[in-house]
Amino acid sequence: MPTNSKHAETIVLHAGYRCDPTTTSVAVPIYQTTSYQFNSTEHAGDLFALRQFGNIYTRIMNPTQAVLEERVSALEGGVAALAVASGQSASLLAVQNICHAGDNFVCSTDIYGGTWNLFQNTMSTMGIECRFVDPADPENFAKASDARTRCWYGESLPNPKLVVFPIAEVAKLGRAMGIPLIMDNTACPILCRPLEHGAAIVMHSTTKYIGGHGTSIGGIIVDGGNFDWEKHADRFPMLNTPDPSYHGAVWTQAVKPLGPIAYIIKARVTLLRDIGAAMSPFNAFMFIQGLETVALRMRQHCSNAVAVARHLAEHPKISKVIFPGLMTGEQKRRADAYLEGGYGALVGIELRGGKEAGRKFIDSLKLLYHVANIGDVRSLAIHPATTTHSQLSPEEQLQTGVSEGYVRLSIGIEHPDDIIADIDQALGAV
Ligand code: PLP
Repeated sequence: MPTNSKHAETIVLHAGYRCDPTTTSVAVPIYQTTSYQFNSTEHAGDLFALRQFGNIYTRIMNPTQAVLEERVSALEGGVAALAVASGQSASLLAVQNICHAGDNFVCSTDIYGGTWNLFQNTMSTMGIECRFVDPADPENFAKASDARTRCWYGESLPNPKLVVFPIAEVAKLGRAMGIPLIMDNTACPILCRPLEHGAAIVMHSTTKYIGGHGTSIGGIIVDGGNFDWEKHADRFPMLNTPDPSYHGAVWTQAVKPLGPIAYIIKARVTLLRDIGAAMSPFNAFMFIQGLETVALRMRQHCSNAVAVARHLAEHPKISKVIFPGLMTGEQKRRADAYLEGGYGALVGIELRGGKEAGRKFIDSLKLLYHVANIGDVRSLAIHPATTTHSQLSPEEQLQTGVSEGYVRLSIGIEHPDDIIADIDQALGAV
């Protein structure tokens, strides 16, 4: 049985690597090298012409990265993956791979602020227009699209609202129009498998749960191999017409014998080659270590988050707990449809005392860290109104789901009683 058809807990330990062929090392070695000796000029020629796959230069590929790529791809049920320097570069490359100046793409309004900035402000300087729509109604994606729309983009479990994205509904509408859905699955690896629900591409900031220990910045793009780029050739000229940046390769034809990997190969050998946002071999090693325990950690993250959310739902100083497991109606249906085995580990709370209470609460925490991060094994907290969202007006903050008393908790894997005790003592100080 191929490793890819095994369970997630097994895939993260075994996919893509048994032992090092020269040393028999069981741990994946850190191949800290820039370049790789060619066997002959013919071999070198074959590698550059993509007649044969192999290592050329670490800006484009590396054996340590390759194991990470194989494992995350298998975990998501994809055909191949590309590891890059950060979640931000993964988002950029995922879209830029099929969007040219003059093209547009449609994106959910419920996304990470850094992605919003990249799409709204930086990509517009490249002539690529991002059209933001409310994902509450999947039809909004279709309404905002035209003949130059190259993809749709969403986040499976976006914070601060924590309303799960309607993956299958949006993916289905997109497929009918020949438009692929790219999903940012950063907040819910293991729990959510967007490719199974019709998404074409998945990306992660591996900085978060995959790394898990708050040590390294990285990102990864997974190609689902389930989108027919050739059938929609008019919409995807970048994959179906000669690419001047790779001596006229037509990507849907050039790598056809190797499987449905046109999208991800192009991203590697043109964009990563040119932009150079490569993941370091050391960081790839760190993410492989993180990945080995991600299934185990997600279980603990999720059960701790449930305990915290339930406890806080009863607290007199809190007006609202925002947590997928406590939602009702369509929002709960989506949480149940797309998250398996837990509702994630992000919990939002609204303090009755508003901004001042938010500030006081954060300053009183002793165990939870006050950081702008999620997905660490340690529990984390942030008050968006005075930090990440402080440049927005109160009205704009509310639109993104941030009220003045909103605090985002990223629940770690400490003992739940200790997490709750720290939150309780901080609430006591409010
Ligand atoms: N996507 C999501 C959902 C994130 O939370 C983040 C970072 O917070 C990113 C992407 C960007 O990732 P990175 O910080 O690794 O560049």
